Amino acid sequence: MSRRRFVAAAGGAVAGLIAGPALVDPDGRARAVPRPGAAGPLPSHMFTLGVASGDPAPDGVVLWTRLAPDALHGGGMPNQSVPVTWEVADDDRFAAVRRRGTATAEPAWGHSVHAEVTGLEPDRVYFYRFLVDGQASPVGRTRTAPAAGADLQRLRFAFASCQDYQSGRYTAYRHLAAEDIAFVAFLGDYIYENPRNTAAYRQHDGTGEPYSLTDYRNRHACYRSDPDLQAAHAAAPWIVTFDDHEVDNNWAGLVPQDPAQQSADVFRARRAAAFQAYYEHMPLRRSSLPSGIDMRVYRQITFGRLATVHVLDTRQHRTDQATTLAQADDPARTMTGAEQERWLTTGMSQSGTRWNLLANQVMWASNDRTAGSAQSFDFDNWDGYRVQRRRLLDFFGSGATSNPVVLTGDRHATWACDLRPDFDRPDTPAVGAEITGTSVTSGGDPDTAAFHRTFDPIKAESPHWKYIDNRRGYILCDLTGGRLLASLRTVSTVWAPTATVTTAAEFQVTAGRPGLEVVRHDTPQPLPSSALRRYAVDHDQF
Ligand code: FE
Ligand code: CA
Repeated sequence: MSRRRFVAAAGGAVAGLIAGPALVDPDGRARAVPRPGAAGPLPSHMFTLGVASGDPAPDGVVLWTRLAPDALHGGGMPNQSVPVTWEVADDDRFAAVRRRGTATAEPAWGHSVHAEVTGLEPDRVYFYRFLVDGQASPVGRTRTAPAAGADLQRLRFAFASCQDYQSGRYTAYRHLAAEDIAFVAFLGDYIYENPRNTAAYRQHDGTGEPYSLTDYRNRHACYRSDPDLQAAHAAAPWIVTFDDHEVDNNWAGLVPQDPAQQSADVFRARRAAAFQAYYEHMPLRRSSLPSGIDMRVYRQITFGRLATVHVLDTRQHRTDQATTLAQADDPARTMTGAEQERWLTTGMSQSGTRWNLLANQVMWASNDRTAGSAQSFDFDNWDGYRVQRRRLLDFFGSGATSNPVVLTGDRHATWACDLRPDFDRPDTPAVGAEITGTSVTSGGDPDTAAFHRTFDPIKAESPHWKYIDNRRGYILCDLTGGRLLASLRTVSTVWAPTATVTTAAEFQVTAGRPGLEVVRHDTPQPLPSSALRRYAVDHDQF
């Protein structure tokens, strides 16, 4: 079969394309690869979950797929190791293949494939695919990072979070896939562990909450079967981190949401299962391979001399949530653990890049939930870890780092804010900016009027809040040496198969001038009352 006739977008049979797997691993070392066949032929349609790439470096990326002919029921692969060939090419027809190798899909790891490719050119677009037993995966597009010392003029990227499958369609991802970006940062809540909700817009797999490895695999596979999500993964490399719902709502370290109902042993097993399934479904490097209940997710990814992305883990090492303001002020409380805090401040001091972007889960900016002189806080946020927050914000303002900007998920709404060590002192200088992006779906189609009735009075008392909005979508960022321009891209609905996308607002952070300004914004058109709350949603933070 001629390679020119390969149809890039469609996976399917390409028998005879590859005579046999190349017996080299991604590092180029010879390797004995177990041959399939002893147990009979492999199933058809193994590439049901699409492809992905992640964690770009100047010389390569990690490529991901998972063989899962029966994705929602454990995967459906025979209990045998399967060698999978990967190819990286200049073009989507694979006329100019630059790298080729073999990775082994192991039953113990859900037949997931993580191929760390090296030897590529910096700051270049490549296409990739996987081949096994005459079947070809869909084709993915990825991009390497610029060289370490490169004087990069511009970096375009997007960030997103909170994609509850039951809350609505991934309409935002169809638009995100068409943006011209170097990467997508995903800031947490990739899956939700909730039980099935028959009143929701659509239903995810199973009936109860996941606990076992098979449960979490099926939940990830359900989400990943969505074609719009697959398209977004196939369009650009992702830099992922998790928040709470990848394991259990509001978990903290070894403490589950409801310790009365989950013993310590049950939760340890649950966390290990959730971490393994997360790794199996994410384009993560081997350095993030989980070991039991431990998984290293905090890491740095650098884009020339322009930007470093400091990816945080604010779940695994945190103190359990406070329940009172006095507890929240306890200096012993930590969101990151001491080791990760040292890693962060050292990395932000020594990055050598003009911008230091934090890929972060929960809001840093103080976010009071009660209008008037009374205050109330969600102590799952940095509001519950106030001494560490102040210490880090003092560091932001110390001159030891360059242009810190926090990118945040979790809130299911957009919150563009100034950061200052003492949020009760608006007369003191800002030390950085935070852009909390909205959700992809979580919360469903929004009641914008109710949102503004609740939060506009609090905004009037919170001068560090520059802009708030609760429409669904993602944030598109255009970064130069002089400024970060962030566009809030919102979709018209998540409760229909298609939607339009608009730029609802633009925020600018100017280099050397900490804080954020709203460049422009529209006025949301409230949905007709017949459209509101047509479906139940599990996650409405308001
Ligand atoms: Fe969420
Ligand atoms: Ca969350």
